[in-house]
Amino acid sequence: MARELYRSEALRQRAERLFPGGVSSPVRAFVAVGGQPPFVAKAKGAFLWDADANRYLDYFGSWGPMILGHAFPPVVEAVARAAQNSVSFGASCEAEGTLAELVVKAFPSIEKMRFVSSGTEAAMSAIRLARAHTGRKYVVKFEGCYHGHADALLVKAGSGVATFGVPGSAGVPEEVAGLTLALPFNDLGPVEEVFARLSGQIACVLIEPVAGNMGCVAPRPGYLEALRRITASDGSLLIFDEVMTGFRVAFGGAQEIFAIQPDLTCLGKILGGGLPCGAFGGRAEIMDGLAPRGPVYQAGTLSGNPLAMAAGIATLTHLAEHRGKIYSSLERNGRTLADGVAHAAREAGIAITTNQFGSMLTWFFTSGPVNDFAGAAASDTATFARFHQAMLNAGIWLPPSQFEAAFLSAAHTPADIDFTIEAAREVFAKKG
Ligand SMILES: *Cc1c(COP(=O)(O)O)cnc(C)c1O
Repeated sequence: MARELYRSEALRQRAERLFPGGVSSPVRAFVAVGGQPPFVAKAKGAFLWDADANRYLDYFGSWGPMILGHAFPPVVEAVARAAQNSVSFGASCEAEGTLAELVVKAFPSIEKMRFVSSGTEAAMSAIRLARAHTGRKYVVKFEGCYHGHADALLVKAGSGVATFGVPGSAGVPEEVAGLTLALPFNDLGPVEEVFARLSGQIACVLIEPVAGNMGCVAPRPGYLEALRRITASDGSLLIFDEVMTGFRVAFGGAQEIFAIQPDLTCLGKILGGGLPCGAFGGRAEIMDGLAPRGPVYQAGTLSGNPLAMAAGIATLTHLAEHRGKIYSSLERNGRTLADGVAHAAREAGIAITTNQFGSMLTWFFTSGPVNDFAGAAASDTATFARFHQAMLNAGIWLPPSQFEAAFLSAAHTPADIDFTIEAAREVFAKKG
């Protein structure tokens, strides 16, 4: 059944005139996988509909926020109700405290937080605070981890930066990039070496505790614990960027699963239930360095926006109430899907490595294993591109890059997963 994309094509032609690459964010252009990106007209539960009314099973979930599925009624109602009272105040409102209390309960490492409007702002503000708190200038990050598009963090980054195969970004001066040390993920040797060389000069170590932006890569046993130990003994701050993993791998994020208390945590995506929202938080003693209490400036016209707060409260309240059931079922469905598709690939003689962590998963087209960015980069991206296109034609929308994790939502049913595995089997059989 061939999809028709007349209306999407007309919209794409207009978008090409108005936006660089025709998009508002690079990976949406499908450059890495080819084919035509459909324009989305609406979404409900686990499904998207494009402008030509083709339906797709959604495995990118707006890049993470949609853990309860699209247009989840309590979220839609909360946003509609909040909008009646104006969509923005630019002054404090009750809902900020309500959402913050949900966050503090979920993340014992967070005493105080600040709301921002994106994950990028959360990470960029957290490193500014860490530099001020420690009086140090170097930042350690890991190859293939993505922390948004602030200058200091676009060094060997994941997500779109990895998709387009560039080491960083044009427009970031060497002097700025030179203060960011990018080390291989999951390897302690280089971390120990850099801390020996620059002892007392590293403000923070920033990491995705379960990486999702080079595709899904879990930390090796003991790795995060060692980072906690090394940073603490040098007086450097450990920052967990849980913009993707927060409320996804567990309600309390990766730090709940690994029982580690970072000094600062970045949140976003699920936090705002699909509306623009992020936050960073940690111990009060560190967070009080922010203006107006302290000397670190950080501000936002739309920070703590009442619609974002309402969507976040509705999402987190539902997740908190049903956490026992939701996270175990996401894990079970995630494993079934990951293993089912991998099995189908192997039956067709295609090399594949599956990394799955709860509802985050990636099929790397390589014999693997994939424990770091070098491992992920060994994947056959041409095979991924063909797989992506064929699955899209079968009505299944995977993230359009080998280096982006796929997401399941609570709206995906076992039948949806069986349908996906069957579709993959047919796709691989044709290829093989
Ligand atoms: C998505 C993401 C970001 C950036 O968030 P935006 O809201 O896109 O700015 C930062 N860190 C991680 C780990 C992410 O997954």
